[in-house]
This record gives sequence, C-alpha cells and structure tokens, in this order.
Amino acid sequence: MNTTSTVDTAQRARAVIPGGVNSGQRSLPDWPDLVVTQAQGARIVDGEGRSYTDYHAAFGPPLLGHNAPEVTAAVAAAGQRLDLCGVGVSSYEVELAETLAELVPSIEKVLLTSTGSEATFHALRLARAVTGRRLVVKFQGCYHGWHDSVSLNVISSPDRIGSPDPISAGILPEVLAATLVLPFNDVNAVHRAFAEHGDDIAAVILEPVPHNIGCVLPDQEFLSTLRRETERHGSVLVFDEVITGFRHALGGWQEISGITPDLTTLGKAIANGYPLGALGGRADLMEEFSSNPGSPVFFAGTYNGHPAIVSAALATLRILRTAPVHDHVFRLGDRIRTGLAEVMADVGVPAVVTGYGSVFVTYFMEGAPPRSYDDLLRNDAALFVGYRQRLREHGIFELPLNLKRSHVSYAHTDADVDALLEGTRAAVQRARQEATAPAQASSTMGGVTR
Ligand code: PMP
Repeated sequence: MNTTSTVDTAQRARAVIPGGVNSGQRSLPDWPDLVVTQAQGARIVDGEGRSYTDYHAAFGPPLLGHNAPEVTAAVAAAGQRLDLCGVGVSSYEVELAETLAELVPSIEKVLLTSTGSEATFHALRLARAVTGRRLVVKFQGCYHGWHDSVSLNVISSPDRIGSPDPISAGILPEVLAATLVLPFNDVNAVHRAFAEHGDDIAAVILEPVPHNIGCVLPDQEFLSTLRRETERHGSVLVFDEVITGFRHALGGWQEISGITPDLTTLGKAIANGYPLGALGGRADLMEEFSSNPGSPVFFAGTYNGHPAIVSAALATLRILRTAPVHDHVFRLGDRIRTGLAEVMADVGVPAVVTGYGSVFVTYFMEGAPPRSYDDLLRNDAALFVGYRQRLREHGIFELPLNLKRSHVSYAHTDADVDALLEGTRAAVQRARQEATAPAQASSTMGGVTR
C-alpha cells in the first residue's frame, strides 16, 4: 500500500522523467511507485517511512555503508576551500592519482572521469588509437556501460545466445560488427578468435568477475590465456574493475589473480557513492592522452577531478586502508553464503549459493556454480525475482530483477545477517508456494516497517 503523497511523487516523476527514473533498471515492475527518502548505514527508507536493510547498495558503490560520515565530512570540507575551476590541477587530484598508482598493480598513470562508462569508453578508444585496429572482444554477460562498442550481449535472452543482442536501438550496425562476443571462461573460444582475427583485435575487455549476471568466478587459466594471447598479438588487455576494484581487494582482481592488464577501469566503491570513475594503466599507453598539443587521443570532461568528489574518494580509500573493512565484509559474506546454502537445503529448494567476499547471490538451479552466462539459463527466474519481492515483507531489500547480485557493507552487522537468513527462509517458502498457486499471489505484496 502506498500513500497518496508517494503515488503523487511517482506520478509527477513519470510526467516529466521518461519512465519515472533516471537510469535503466531503477524501476521495479511490481513496485512502480517506489520513492526513496533516506539512506544511512545499512538502511534505506521508502516514501511510507518503511525501513529496509539494503543489500542492493545502489549496484555496488557504498562499501562503507550509505552516507558514511567521514566521507560526507570530507566532501563538505573540500567545499569550504575549493570547487570546480576547470584549469590546472588540485592537490586532491594528485594525491588520488598517487594513491591509485600505489594500490592497483597495473596503474602507472591514471585519469579521472565522472562515471565507469566514460572510463571504459576511453579505454577502448585508446586501444583502437594505439593499435590502429578495429575489433574489440568482450564476453557474454559482461556490462561495461552504456556506450555503443560494448552495448551488446550484456544479458542475452535464452533464444539469442550467439547472436548480436544490442542493449539499445540506435547503434550503427558497423559498430556492433566491430565487437566480438565470446563465452566467458572459454579458453578455446579465445584461441579461435585470436587465430582468426588476431591482427585486427585492438582490445579485450572483461569484468574479471562477471558480476553483472550475479557472480561467475574466472578460471585462472582463462585469465592467463587472455594475458598471453593479447601480449602475443599486440592487443590491449582491459580489466573493467568498476565492481571488483576496492570491493574485493584494494588492488582489485588483478591483485588477487596476479594477472596484470594493460589498462584498468575503476568506479563505484572508489568514492562510496559519489560519482567518480578512473582509467589507469601502462604509462606509455596513458601518455597518449597527454593534453600537450599534438597528442593523438582526446580526453576531456568538465567535471573530471571535482575536488569534493575526489575528497570523497580519498576519505573512502583512507578508511579502506586503515579500518578492518575487508575483514568485516568478507566475514559477513561468508556467513551469508554458508547460511543461505543451509536454508536452501533445509527448505528443499535446489540452489547454488555463490559470490565472493562481500558479494552474494543465490541461483535457483541444480549443479555446480556457473562458469558462463549459458549456465545461468537454468536459473529459475520466477523464483529468483519472486523471493526478493517477498523479502520486503521482512524489511530486507535485494533488487527483485533476474540475476542481480547483492552486497554487504561495513555498516551491516551480524544481527542483520541473522535477519537476512530468517527472512530469506520465509520468503523462499512463500514464493515457492505462490509459484504453485499463482492465482492467490498478488493480494499481499508490500513492505513492513522495521
Ligand atoms: N563497468 C561495470 C563492470 C559496471 O558494472 C558498470 C556499471 N554497472 C559500468 C562499467 C558503468 O559504470 P557507470 O554506470 O558508472 O557508467
């Protein structure tokens, strides 16, 4: 049930904002009038004043929890001194670049953007510029932002595996044709692509852990094959660590795997929710962006390096380096994965509970953890979405859309985990009943105050 004021706000939104929201996948089919009013720590509050323990985490940025006080204070303090001047450089930007070069193995030089999409866009433009080649290789299920070169086979529908599946209308067919899409973790497909097109492959881009379809862990052999093949053929290897960066380790998945890409893109957890992305990597490649007259690759952005936003990143990284954030979120993540697997076994629902560190996801399917997008076609999407809708009745928010991952933050507690496990047990049982008796399903939806 929504009050008039919430419905009113959502209706006003739809009148002036296309679809009523400001980014894809923010509108929920079963909750069209969702308005958010507060966020603090591990909780978000809706327009009715109902509080939810939030595991959606805005798709990943608030690793410290929403509105982390030190980060908010750093933003305010920077604002007392400086705002955007659009000329020269500030000491904040220098300190952040030095910190990133220190933390992330591949980064010798780095540029700041406002979003992850800009970072991946510039990575691919740079790769094409330095190699003089056309093709980009990406992997099924990986998302790298909204721009044309990477906007296909992000999440393939079952009947479209293997065919170009653009995320949007309006993309030139020749741009789509310049992107090869391969199955993740498939070493043979990589060898074949390089055997056939090696001389024309500018870049290979991947999420080292494809989190845009939940969590598919990479085989070490797959990553080292990508490193060997790109090196052998003079292609640029790009790790898109927009999700894995900082969340899984301060040096990202490249630190964990020991495989160093040529370029790395960062975003999300870097500034705990303030809009910041970064592109870094080998100095010789990054120097192509040098703003000296005559440098070949253009790079710009009015808001790049905004002092308040950069201060948010500096405060976030300071906390990540000095407080036991990773210990805490990894421990809670382990508790959640173990606990959820026990719950699913207890209620007799075939499920694969997987994830890494602070990320967790339950797929409703038999067998081993997924190794590629194709494996996820066995997931029961109705149950995946259905139990997440039911979780709201227990004061818990996980995004009720298929294949979405969930996140735990430094602000979550053991008591939150207890409540999550209990709520999930009830929600899965309820969603399963509804799947067998669909006619009674819709009358009791809605949240509950906590
Ligand atoms: N790369 C990855 C792996 C992402 O998950 C995202 C965003 N979900 C992006 C790039 C794009 O980042 P942004 O939305 O900040 O443009």
